[in-house]
Amino acid sequence: MRSALTGRKSAPAGQKFNKIKTKIKQNNSFTRPPPSREGLGVGHLNMKYFTFTEFERSVTAALKGYDNEAPREARRNIEYLVDTVMDPLREFLGCPVIITSGYRCRDLNRDVGGSPTSQHLLGLAADFVPNGCTQEACDSIRRWFRQQQTRHTEAQDTAWDTSIPFDQLIDYGTFFHVGLRPEGSANRYQMLHYNAFGQGYRRD
Ligand SMILES: [Zn+2]
Repeated sequence: MRSALTGRKSAPAGQKFNKIKTKIKQNNSFTRPPPSREGLGVGHLNMKYFTFTEFERSVTAALKGYDNEAPREARRNIEYLVDTVMDPLREFLGCPVIITSGYRCRDLNRDVGGSPTSQHLLGLAADFVPNGCTQEACDSIRRWFRQQQTRHTEAQDTAWDTSIPFDQLIDYGTFFHVGLRPEGSANRYQMLHYNAFGQGYRRD
């Protein structure tokens, strides 16, 4: 079919529909609207349960005198992580989630033994515990991430993937680490368990 106005050939209806489906999938708009990028830092509309400070404070950084305030790009990533994963998780749990390590400047990441390619450097990872660290809350966290993983696996090749994306959830026993790939990149939905007694990382 040719458009009367532009003279250009328009795509067949099926193709158009597929394009829309892909767009929907990319935006993941069944779970939430795309986060606003306006007003970062002051009066931002997102990040319902968390503040940038919770992601930037660090005892080590304070002791060593490091400026661990996240630069603008890292703050965008923190906001993306919170809007995508942390706020929905917090909402599900119904109890506060304490961030024990969020953004890390290069010096801080080195001092705490982080990987040189850690997502913490980008503001795309958080170590956290549920308030009070109850067994019940920890189990709920594992269950919630497992649910996202299952949803994603079952809907991987359809437009109806309603899962909340995450790249890795690592259960360290005393805290959880969650990482997210940069906006627009595919996530692995991996669940790992870290065993400090020589066995390292294992798939859960
Ligand atoms: Zn971590």
